[in-house]
Amino acid sequence: MNKKLTLNETLDKIRQISGIKNDFYSEISEIFKNTPFNKELNFLKESTDILLKNQKEDFLSHLFESAEMLDALLDICVLSFSVENTKLGNDVITFSLPAGWTCPWANTCLKKVERYRVVDPNKVNTSKVSKRTGLDVPYKGDVVVHKGKNSQFDCFAANQEMQYDTVRENRWHNFDLLLAAGTYMDQADLIMKSLTFFFDNEGFRTDVRIHESGDFYSGEYLKAWMEVAKKMPENKFYAYTKSLPLVQKYQNELKDIPNLSITLSEGGRKDSELGNIDIKQAKVFNTPEDLLAAGLILDLDDNLAKEKGGKDKNFGLLIHGTQEAGEKQQLKLRNETFMAYWKYRKYLNRQLGLPTETRMSTEQADAALAHIDDILTNQEKYMKAKGIKRIDKTHFEYIKKLLRYVKKYNVYDFDDNLINILQDKYK
Ligand code: SF4
Repeated sequence: MNKKLTLNETLDKIRQISGIKNDFYSEISEIFKNTPFNKELNFLKESTDILLKNQKEDFLSHLFESAEMLDALLDICVLSFSVENTKLGNDVITFSLPAGWTCPWANTCLKKVERYRVVDPNKVNTSKVSKRTGLDVPYKGDVVVHKGKNSQFDCFAANQEMQYDTVRENRWHNFDLLLAAGTYMDQADLIMKSLTFFFDNEGFRTDVRIHESGDFYSGEYLKAWMEVAKKMPENKFYAYTKSLPLVQKYQNELKDIPNLSITLSEGGRKDSELGNIDIKQAKVFNTPEDLLAAGLILDLDDNLAKEKGGKDKNFGLLIHGTQEAGEKQQLKLRNETFMAYWKYRKYLNRQLGLPTETRMSTEQADAALAHIDDILTNQEKYMKAKGIKRIDKTHFEYIKKLLRYVKKYNVYDFDDNLINILQDKYK
């Protein structure tokens, strides 16, 4: 059987056969880097051979006749979306742009990560041991971050970009394509074609969250999404934004688009004008007690963000995600416990065969944890007793995580009154 060659091995082989200059191959290698082609070695070799014979027309037709090329071109030319899977159903498609760079009105949350790593010549050819995996990681440049001068909250989206190069690449790829697209109609066309491509490949989903990261950075861009919503009535689009001046400018048109819901979020440079516009707002609180005092409802599952409305639909959020060490970090842990407890309480009870309204005690949670540990250590016995062929370990681990939240919730001893900040379905 032929050994499958890596891209570099294949290019080396071609180089040996043809005796061609190194530059040419490094060019080819660079062009196809990060595309599905670095896996399509025969295709690369054939294309290179034709090109080396200087048969440009044959080369082009080979390129365009290739299904792989079409796939790759599509990948390069369409916007990228993600799916957010939720345990409680209702998967959401999310769209992202570079955090901070596309948020012209962000203020207390502002954080930007440089698109490319900055290489410190003194660190080249060094490596360091990863705290997480214990593996040696070669130095590939520093991730450079800029925080806004009024920053108070940590931008979760920027933190994702700090952690993963691919996340940054995808978001900049989206931004590049939109900037290159042209008018708002051209941008809308690009978004619609990209969404359709995504649905064809990943399956249709109704809900689309515009900007898990980023914001409406221009009027033309906001108009593009308005156009998309009008032309895709079977989808429900929703977005949080701090781009208040743009929303203000198009508020009448926005009100007439039933499947596009905008939520203004606090923390922007135009917060003082929030009172002048009848579009719903989300306010972030440090604690559930503060949220209760403000008389608002907590959005546990994005459903209040999806709902279209004016000020009468204002709602609250609790700080969570990554926060710097200190008081905010403590509050975040407390808030996350509160949110996880109430969001998954009924689901957890159903999984354990308890009445859905049960408020589990620490003893009950401990007993359930011990029972799951017993199943996981005696899997064969459990499978035989249940007549099943495999155990879904991930699911059991997830249930254990929820049970640990129950225990933490009981330690925090939250006031029963806080039930009043929940949406009815979670009470
Ligand atoms: S608006 Fe959102 S994405 Fe932009 S900096 Fe603020 S939190 Fe981050």
